[in-house]
Amino acid sequence: MEAGGEQMTPRRLLAKVRDIMAGRGSAQKRLDQVVSTIAGGLGAEVCSVYVRRAGDVLELFATEGLRSTAVHQTRLRVGEGLIGVIAARARPLALADAQHHPAFAFRPETGEEVYNSLMGVPILRDGRIIGVVAVQNRSERRYRGEEIETLQTVAMILAELIVGGGLIGLDELPAVEGLTGRPQQVPAVRLSPGVGIGVAVLGQLKHDIHNLVAEDPELERSRLRAAFTEMHGALDALFQSSDHGLDGEHREILESYRMIAEDAGWFARIQEAIDGGLTAEAAVMKVHNDIRARLSRTANPYLQERIHDFQDLADRLLQHLTGADGSLGDIVLPENAVLIARSLGPAQLLELDRSRLSAVVLEEGTATAHVAIIARALNIPMVGQARDIFGQIVAGDPVIVDAEHGNVFVRPGDTVRQAFLESARERERQIASYRALRPLPTETLDGVEVKLNINAGLRIDLAQLEETGAEGVGLYRTELLFLSQPRFPDVAAQQALYTDILDKAAGRPVVFRTVDVGGDKILPYLDTSRGDNPAMGWRAIRMCLDRPAILRQQMRALIRAAAGRELRLMFPMIADVAEFESARVLLDLELTREEERTGELPASLSVGAMLEVPSLMFQLDLLLRRVQFVSVGSNDLLQFLFASDRGNPGVSARYDSLSPAMITFLGEVVRRCEDAGVDLSLCGEMAGSPLDAMVLLGLGYRNLSMAPSSIGPVKAMIRSLTLGSLRRYIDLLYESPEHSLREKLRDFARDHYVKV
Ligand code: PEP
Ligand code: MG
Repeated sequence: MEAGGEQMTPRRLLAKVRDIMAGRGSAQKRLDQVVSTIAGGLGAEVCSVYVRRAGDVLELFATEGLRSTAVHQTRLRVGEGLIGVIAARARPLALADAQHHPAFAFRPETGEEVYNSLMGVPILRDGRIIGVVAVQNRSERRYRGEEIETLQTVAMILAELIVGGGLIGLDELPAVEGLTGRPQQVPAVRLSPGVGIGVAVLGQLKHDIHNLVAEDPELERSRLRAAFTEMHGALDALFQSSDHGLDGEHREILESYRMIAEDAGWFARIQEAIDGGLTAEAAVMKVHNDIRARLSRTANPYLQERIHDFQDLADRLLQHLTGADGSLGDIVLPENAVLIARSLGPAQLLELDRSRLSAVVLEEGTATAHVAIIARALNIPMVGQARDIFGQIVAGDPVIVDAEHGNVFVRPGDTVRQAFLESARERERQIASYRALRPLPTETLDGVEVKLNINAGLRIDLAQLEETGAEGVGLYRTELLFLSQPRFPDVAAQQALYTDILDKAAGRPVVFRTVDVGGDKILPYLDTSRGDNPAMGWRAIRMCLDRPAILRQQMRALIRAAAGRELRLMFPMIADVAEFESARVLLDLELTREEERTGELPASLSVGAMLEVPSLMFQLDLLLRRVQFVSVGSNDLLQFLFASDRGNPGVSARYDSLSPAMITFLGEVVRRCEDAGVDLSLCGEMAGSPLDAMVLLGLGYRNLSMAPSSIGPVKAMIRSLTLGSLRRYIDLLYESPEHSLREKLRDFARDHYVKV
């Protein structure tokens, strides 16, 4: 037996530590009691806890055995001295002759010169090192493997006391450099533009583990076995439920699961932690923390990648242990929250408190791109496909989401932060200057008037009419209601929404687009995902003509909502005149039906088609005889004109909207509509980009519909433009053999002081 008294069994020691933690008194007082209990329990003369502070230093927070005057005075850099080495390597260290170790750093104020042996372990939380706990003995004691294990288990409880007890502020955690503490830049894909600055909130499964110390280890072991078996079964079911064989994610999860399960080490280590006195949940967390800390330190990218797999498995195992349902739960957002989630449904996004949400980062995010449409409608910056974001971030980390360029800056350095704050201030100044334009006419310097409308899809968007001074709603994407519901909204629900929209628009025109689902807008209750290329698949008007009840119900709701008022509606993805005719027949059926039923019809009716499939161009004259207006959907038009998938980052930017082919097409549409005397507008992304919008005006477009946030910049452009000279310049460009005319047009804008 070493000096320092009777050693306790690990379980007794843990139980004592737990009792102290649950007791009264300040966190510091409880920490003081804990160190003396650990020293006694492990038969050591010294036990000290060092806590990692901002600036990468380890501060002595409590000690039994060293001089108490050194507490909060002694500080070591990470990597300095044996304590610093333990933190830097994230590994335990046990030395019988510590003083002759090359890393030993003597601190006279502690009085530690008389102690020869030392055993220390890192204190880990969420995979990051937040401190070190060490014991020392006068004799050259050889610490045993079980003793190291015991100290590691105690360290896990200490982590809760340090963070949960408020010994250091939560805000100090992110400032801790190290495992995940370094600034990181995570590339991602832009789903909704903008920049959000705030603190990370993990919309991950929350495992509320209240009980760390086990009363009955046998019970914990059997709970662990049961959870393993359940997890095994659930993963197998997941594996088998994949109709089309294994897709990437399932395969990866399953394979990493197998790898870990077959390497009996994982299970055995969790069992060992239970033997050490932890509950099954706490044991899973402890082993996961250890693994994560170690893997993060390796330079091997393959092993680094595995952190994600381990995290996933630990999450799954904890889910089975705690019976959590895997949903986001009731997340309470702090101010300026940046939500980090694996994936998010549209309804979940709508439920969040948007006044507190700065941005959203999704680890997945392609299959759920409909959530991105809502994010855009709500002006919430959002990125997706942020691979392994959960491996790089902990709750409370400062984050900047630059959705404009598809980057997530985790724990950004000061320079990056300042640059973004400055550009945020600049944006605010600009927004204020756009607001000042609101009462001024939307016309060019040479007196040509332009109508600017907003694209909308949610009730709250209508407030933007007033805010921006827009003419009306040029595109109301009705599918957003369909996307945010668990089943098809019935006629009454649709009617209520459309009535509300028309009420809110208060007489300003609203163009309702009939439902455009399919493509990347997937309804949970309708299988539209047929085929490998859904953008060219069963979507929009194609689906509606095959399932006429959907379209008829929608038109019924629209007719009723617009009774006695003006109704404008248009059909998306019309590829030939026959499709328009078929849709129009259904509309007439509904009009007749409504007339017979109530005799109440809209006071006026205006029916249009979206021009987004190039084939329609070859029947444009026929179409123009049948419609009151045409609206160009330039997003889809561009992708179909160039056969270039707008959702595929590899090619979506390959072809430019400002290319000779596109502007020739767009110019021709203007001429044909003018000849036929049919109203023309454009409602794709082009309308909202000042440079593209400038070109559209040059081509003859006079009615543009865009995201509300673009109204200000586009109006500023219009008010700085002399149209005559632009027209003459564009006439010269049709014959250009170049891939893109963007640079030339930008030069034109600069040379003519057009604000683009
Ligand atoms: C378009 O395609 O340009 C358009 C406005 O429709 P959406 O983006 O909804 O497909
Ligand atoms: Mg479209």
